[in-house]
Amino acid sequence: MTGPPAEGGRVLVVGALGRMGERVRAAVDEDPELVLGAALEAPGHPRLGEALAPGVAVGDDAKAALADCDVAIDFTAPAATLAALRAAAEARVPYVAGTTGFSSEQREEVERLAARTPVLVAPNFSVAVNVLVWLVGEAARRLGPEFDAELVELHHSAKRDAPSGTALRLARAVAEARGQRLEDHLVLERAGETGARPEGAIGVQTLRAGDFAGEHTVLFGGRGERLELVHRAHTRDHFARGAVRAARWILGRDPRRYTIEQVLGLE
Ligand code: NAD
Repeated sequence: MTGPPAEGGRVLVVGALGRMGERVRAAVDEDPELVLGAALEAPGHPRLGEALAPGVAVGDDAKAALADCDVAIDFTAPAATLAALRAAAEARVPYVAGTTGFSSEQREEVERLAARTPVLVAPNFSVAVNVLVWLVGEAARRLGPEFDAELVELHHSAKRDAPSGTALRLARAVAEARGQRLEDHLVLERAGETGARPEGAIGVQTLRAGDFAGEHTVLFGGRGERLELVHRAHTRDHFARGAVRAARWILGRDPRRYTIEQVLGLE
């Protein structure tokens, strides 16, 4: 689609040439209400200046890119997302981000910036994963603390943060269902003389290999039986479509922090 749509909005894609950025641009192209308005990449990227659509060249100036847009979609890295989000808060442009791996200080800054523009950050834009989070909470509540909870996540070898934001979200769903603080029970590695498994531990193991779009297994281990809930992403397209759906949803909302559950009608 070229030219601004009659209704809807112009989208700034941040990290436009990345794996997800490419799929987001494809999903925007397919959307009848949205159009690509600007494309942002890292300063010094070798493809800066390249035209991606009529009138849209890859740039590295967030302020200039935001001036042409009604909403931003960002899949980059935490520091890059915060830099672009600061400019979006200044320009009052709603912001949808799928970036993972934020520190707690960075998360607090996102929260502060959401007072000035609508912001939605989600570690996973898949509908099925968000239903899985709900299912895991229900399972943890009904199985009770005598079932040990362990998670395994598998992603492509280029992924830069571990464990995945989704694995942590699933672990949090278990902790919340049990009335625990995740920070008090999370076990991220085991090696050597570990002793017996602490009661109430929530273990998360990370695998990195190949080009997998993402796989999460939540295992509840009891005496003589176990329950496994598994999600497998086959491509990255559904993440991009979910982010585009969130961008459409967030247009025209009041400045505050929103959740993917609100977009999907899960809460
Ligand atoms: P990628 O490395 O392929 O793409 C990231 C892009 O961001 C690159 O093109 C890079 O040049 C660009 N970039 C870096 N610094 C920038 C800056 N300052 N300004 C603008 N662009 C900049 O990575 P990817 O596989 O596309 O993943 C990106 C992020 O999205 C990761 O944090 C990943 O975990 C996350 N992710 C989230 C979901 C979800 O559903 N929420 C799904 C897949 C991936």
